[in-house]
Order: sequence, then structure tokens, then C-alpha cells
Amino acid sequence: MRSKTEWAEAGATVGQLYSDIASNTADYSFPAGTCPTMGTGGHCSGGGMSLLSRKYGLAADNIIDALLVDANSNLLDRKSMGEDLFWALRGGGGGSWGVVVAWKVGLVRVPSKVTVFMVFMAKSGDRPSLSVAIHCASVRTGSLYSRCNIWLRIARRPEGH
Ligand SMILES: Cc1cc2nc3c(=O)[nH]c(=O)nc-3n(C[C@H](O)[C@H](O)[C@H](O)COP(=O)(O)OP(=O)(O)OC[C@H]3O[C@@H](n4cnc5c(N)ncnc54)[C@H](O)[C@@H]3O)c2cc1C
Repeated sequence: MRSKTEWAEAGATVGQLYSDIASNTADYSFPAGTCPTMGTGGHCSGGGMSLLSRKYGLAADNIIDALLVDANSNLLDRKSMGEDLFWALRGGGGGSWGVVVAWKVGLVRVPSKVTVFMVFMAKSGDRPSLSVAIHCASVRTGSLYSRCNIWLRIARRPEGH
């Protein structure tokens, strides 16, 4: 059962949403993407993958109501649009089903402190250091699978560096 919800206008950026939530509580957030300048309108309509998605799913999974203007100028909420349109609205792509005026978002619990670290491997012989880092993450968080996100970026180092 969710204990906190908030209405976000679809013209707001996710950064504005995060900032608004953070000004009210340190224990809750909304699982949307990493770039603060994305609009909630297009982001939530398309799914919305985040650092919290491993635990809480997509932004769209955490939308619990919406205000939508359809092609006939009707202003609809979840009840009046029906569950089929409400389902399509959350992941079916922006601009497909009408104009979203606002989203009612369900907030999720977050720890007030997080640990972030980076591991650089210069060559294949350093592989054990990555498994040690993953193990450390598991011990620190208590549960690697539900609470830890791992991003892997493979890049080629420029010659001479
Ligand atoms: C720098 C950057 C970082 C990103 N990071 C992530 C990330 O971490 N996770 C992730 O999942 N995605 C990420 N994305 C992708 C992002 O979610 C999509 O680009 C998304 O479409 C952005 O929505 P917008 O409203 O800002 O864009 P827009 O280009 O304004 O809109 C995208 C589409 O949605 C429609 N739309 C916009 N507002 C509404 C509305 N109110 N009602 C109906 N339709 C609407 C538009 O017509 C358009 O078709 C990133 C994109 C960028 C540019």
C-alpha cells in the first residue's frame, strides 16, 4: 500500500518533480530517469527507466491516475477513461492517446543515504577487482539484487592514456 502520492503537471520536468518531492521529504522519491531536463509528459508516456527501476519498476508502473484530454476535447481521469486507455497511456508512447495534463504519481521509499562508487579496469587481467566490488556492494546494501544498480560501460582508452 502506498502512503504518499503527488500530482505532477505533464509540463514539469522530472528534475522539478524530484526537487519538489525532496523539499517535502527525504524518505521518498519517484522512480523516473536520470536526466533532470526530461519532461514528465513524454518520459512517463514512454515507460521511464531509472536507477530505482530494479527495485520499483518503471516510472509508468508508478503512475496511479492521470488527467488526459482526448481527441474530442474531453478531460478524462483514470475512472472516466477506463483501464484499457489508462494501461496504454503508461508506456504506449507520448502523443499517441491524447494530451496528458497531469500524472498522479505514487512515491516510493528511498534511503536517505546511498553509496556510489566506480570501478575502472584497465585490462582483462583486472577482472577479479570487479567481482570484489560487486561483492562489497552486496554486503553493504544487504541485498544486491533488490537494492543495488550496476551500470557497465565499456570504452576504449585512447592511445597513449
Ligand atoms: C539527456 C536525456 C537523458 C535521458 N535519460 C533517460 C533515462 O534515464 N531513462 C529513460 O527511460 N529515458 C531517458 N531519456 C529518454 C526520454 O525519456 C524521452 O526522450 C522522453 O520522450 C522525453 O520526454 P519529453 O516530454 O522531455 O520529450 P518530448 O520530445 O517533448 O516528447 C516526447 C514525445 O512525447 C509526447 N508528449 C510530450 N508531452 C506530452 C503530454 N503532456 N501528453 C502527451 N504526449 C506528450 C510528444 O508529443 C513526443 O511525441 C533521456 C533523454 C534525454 C534527451
